[in-house]
Order: sequence, then structure tokens, then C-alpha cells
Amino acid sequence: MMVIHVWRTLVTFAAISPATMATRLSNFARKGSTIFGVALNYSDLAATSGVTPPTTPMVFIKPWTAYLTKGGTIKVPTGCKKFFHEVELGVVVGKQGFKIPESRAMEHVGGYALSLDMSAMDIIGEARDKGHPWCIGKGFDSSCPVGDFIHKDQIPDPHNVGLWLKVNNELKQNGNTKNMISDIPTIISYISEYFTLNEGDLLLTGSPAGVGPVSPDDVINCGLADISEMTFHIEA
Ligand code: MG
Repeated sequence: MMVIHVWRTLVTFAAISPATMATRLSNFARKGSTIFGVALNYSDLAATSGVTPPTTPMVFIKPWTAYLTKGGTIKVPTGCKKFFHEVELGVVVGKQGFKIPESRAMEHVGGYALSLDMSAMDIIGEARDKGHPWCIGKGFDSSCPVGDFIHKDQIPDPHNVGLWLKVNNELKQNGNTKNMISDIPTIISYISEYFTLNEGDLLLTGSPAGVGPVSPDDVINCGLADISEMTFHIEA
């Protein structure tokens, strides 16, 4: 009996309660966390932009300094003349992992966050033409505005949820995560083949059709169905 009691006590202390985990993950937009993104991951965006979609996830990284939370202002990066909005489902990693098989990938999802992958398309285009990396065009400060942490239970099927975005109250993007080319398990498994995913990291899963330009003084309002909504102003 004594052995069982000690074992139960140890298990109680070792396990993190769902509430504690949610509190920890609610601070995902913090110093030290990594933001991984995948580009061109929606069939409707690929179709409307006339680009051949990639056969494996096209991965990029934003540093944690890219985060922008409620009340912040999106700043146009220096020299950018073609500044694009991309509304996305962000996946918040709940458990560390490396080389995660697709079959176990959803166990590493801790929750979600409505996210914007702000992109300096002209800077990315110039880099692409020269064969240079996309770092600046994707990773500049304020390039990753995020909403509140969403509990995993609030989105039972992350592959069928609406994503919408308005610029100055005009609807520009109105998509659904069912049009992702690489689904969440594929993205997690692929990225973790090369990078350790840590608790609190964010995975940007791509943007549906309708990505387009914004200018200083514009207002972006976007949402994940009726689960999460956020508003950000653009500043020069
Ligand atoms: Mg994107």
C-alpha cells in the first residue's frame, strides 16, 4: 500500500494539469520562442496566384522579436513598397519534440492562435531573384501579430475552420483551413525532422487566397471563425 501511495504522489506532482499548461501556453508570444512558417500552403491561394504549390512544406523562421500583441502597431519595414497581409491559423506547440512522426504530431499541439504573417513581398522578391534568404522580408519586427491563446478543445477540427480578414472594413480574405496543402501533422513532422519544436513555439500554417497590400494608416481586422478576432493599425 505504501508503495502505491508514494507512486501516486509522484505521478500527481509530475503531471502538469491542463489548467497549468494552458496558463503556460497563454504566454507563447514571449522571448525565446521560435516562429516557424510555411509559405504557399493553400490550394486556393496557389490557384489564384498562378504559382505551382510546393511538394514539401516551404519553411521559414521569424525570430520572437516579430511578435506583436494586442494594442501594438504594425510597422512597415524600411524600404518596403509592397506590404502584404496574410491571415493564418497559428499552432502553439504544447510539448517538445524532435523527428515527430505524423501519427503522433497532434499530441504536440497545445492550442492555437489567430495570426498574421505580415510579408514584405518586394523584399522577398528581390531576395528570391538573387538566391538570397527571405529573413528580412518575413522576419522583421512586428511581422507576426497574434491574438489570444486558444485552447485546443475550442477547435476540435483545425482542418475545417474559417479564416477571414478585412482591410478598412472591406473583406479581403475569406477562406477555410480545409484548403491547406500540407496539413498540421505533415507540417509538424516535416519541421521537426530538422528543428526541435519547443513548448510555446508557433507554427504559421499558411494563408488562404486574397492576400494583398496594405499601406500606412490602414486598419486590419481579422478572425478565426467566431472564435478569435483582432485589430491592428499599420504605421509607416
Ligand atoms: Mg504566410
